[in-house]
Amino acid sequence: MGNQTNQKSWDVIIIGAGIIGMSIAWKLAQKKLQVLVLERNEAGREASYASAGMLAPYTEAEEDTPLLRLAIASREIYPTFLREIESETGMSANYRDEGALFLALDEHEAKALVSRFEWQQKMGFTVERLQGRELQVAEPALSPAIQLALFYPGDHQLDNRAWLAALQAALKKRGVEIRTGSPVHRLINEGGRVVGVEAQGKNLSARVTVLAAGSWSPEIETGSGESIPVYPTRGQIVAVRSPQSGSGTHPLLRHTLRYEGGYVAVFPEGRLLLGGTMEDVGYCKANTVDAMQRILARAIDFAPPLASCEFVEAWSGLRPNTRDHLPILGRSSCDGLVYATGHFRNGILLTPITATAISELIVDGQTTVDLAPFSIERFQGER
Ligand SMILES: Cc1cc2nc3c(=O)[nH]c(=O)nc-3n(C[C@H](O)[C@H](O)[C@H](O)COP(=O)(O)OP(=O)(O)OC[C@H]3O[C@@H](n4cnc5c(N)ncnc54)[C@H](O)[C@@H]3O)c2cc1C
Repeated sequence: MGNQTNQKSWDVIIIGAGIIGMSIAWKLAQKKLQVLVLERNEAGREASYASAGMLAPYTEAEEDTPLLRLAIASREIYPTFLREIESETGMSANYRDEGALFLALDEHEAKALVSRFEWQQKMGFTVERLQGRELQVAEPALSPAIQLALFYPGDHQLDNRAWLAALQAALKKRGVEIRTGSPVHRLINEGGRVVGVEAQGKNLSARVTVLAAGSWSPEIETGSGESIPVYPTRGQIVAVRSPQSGSGTHPLLRHTLRYEGGYVAVFPEGRLLLGGTMEDVGYCKANTVDAMQRILARAIDFAPPLASCEFVEAWSGLRPNTRDHLPILGRSSCDGLVYATGHFRNGILLTPITATAISELIVDGQTTVDLAPFSIERFQGER
C-alpha cells in the first residue's frame, strides 16, 4: 500500500468494454463518478459487436421468468436511454420499432405457435395472429407456405455496431478513459475487500470494481471464493444485402423474422443478418460450412427472395452463458466487487436496465428493480 499513496484512484473500475461495461460507465459518469474502463483488446469487438441487435423480450420468451420481466422493463426504457446518448453525440443507433413476426412453416411449428400465443395472451402481452393474405400484405416476401405467424409490435431492433460507436463517443465526451490492450488478471483483495485490480503488472485502485468481462469473466481471479459459472456459447451469423437496397427503408423485409432455430434481423441500407446457432464449443470463433448452410436454407424457406441477395460476410461471437441462462447482476459477497455478466442471448436488450440498476447499486446502495433472482449467490454451494 505504502508505495501506492500518490497513485491515481478511481471511484469505479470496470473490467470489459463490451456494451455492458461501457453502458455502466456512461451511467456512472452521468452521476459524476470517476470511472476507468479496462479492456483486454479493442473496445466493443466481442459479443456486443457480433450480435444481431434484436430487442426481443416477447419472441425470446418461452415462459414467465424473472428474466422476462427484466427484459420487458429494459425494452420499455430503451428509447429514452438511447435518445440521451444519441443527443449527447449526434450519432444514431437506427432504432426500429416495426415489430417482429414469429413464423411457422409446418403443422408442428404452428402448434407450438398456438400454445405460445395462448400463454402470452393470458399474460396480457400484445400479440396478434396473422395468416394467409393478411400475412402476405404485412410482409410480401414471405413464403405463401407459411401456416401461421404471430406479430409482436413490442419487439424492436437496432444496429448494435452503431450503438457501440455512439456509446464510445459518449464516454469520450464525458472524459471516461477506456484503456485498451489492458487485460486484468486478478483483483486486489485487502482484508476481504476488493480495492482494485492488477492489470499489466500495475495495481490500480478503486472504491468499486465491476466485473463485466462477458464470456471471459471466470478467467479473472477475484479472490472472492465465488464460482462464476459463465461459459461461451457460440453464435454464427451470415450477413446479406438486398438486391434492391439504397432508398434508406428496407425493400425486402420490414419486420424482424423469428422461427424455430433462427432469425432474420433487418439492418439499415438493405443489410439483413441471418442467424443464428447455439453451440457450446469453447472459445472457438470459427464459422462452419455446415452451420452457414443450415442458416441460409432455413431463412430462404421462410422468405424465398433472400436467395437472390448478395452475400456480404459471416462471423461468429461468444454469448456469455450461465448454467441457468440468467445474467449475474449485483454485489459479490466480497465488498467492493459488483458483477454484471452472463447476459447470454439478451445482452443488447438488457443494456439499459443493467446500466441503470448497477449504477444505482453503486451510487445509492439500492436498486429500483429487484436484482435478487440474478445474484451470484444462487450458484454458491453448487459443485
Ligand atoms: C451471434 C450473436 C447474436 C446475438 N444477438 C443478440 C440480439 O439480437 N439481441 C441481444 O440482446 N443480444 C444478442 N446477443 C447477445 C449479446 O451480444 C451479449 O449478451 C452481449 O453483447 C454481452 O455483452 P458484454 O459486454 O457482457 O460482453 P462482450 O461484448 O463480449 O464484452 C466483454 C468484453 O470484456 C473484455 N474482456 C474479457 N476479459 C477481460 C480481461 N481479463 N480484462 C479486460 N477486458 C476483458 C472482452 O475483450 C470484451 O471486449 C448475441 C450474441 C451473439 C454472439
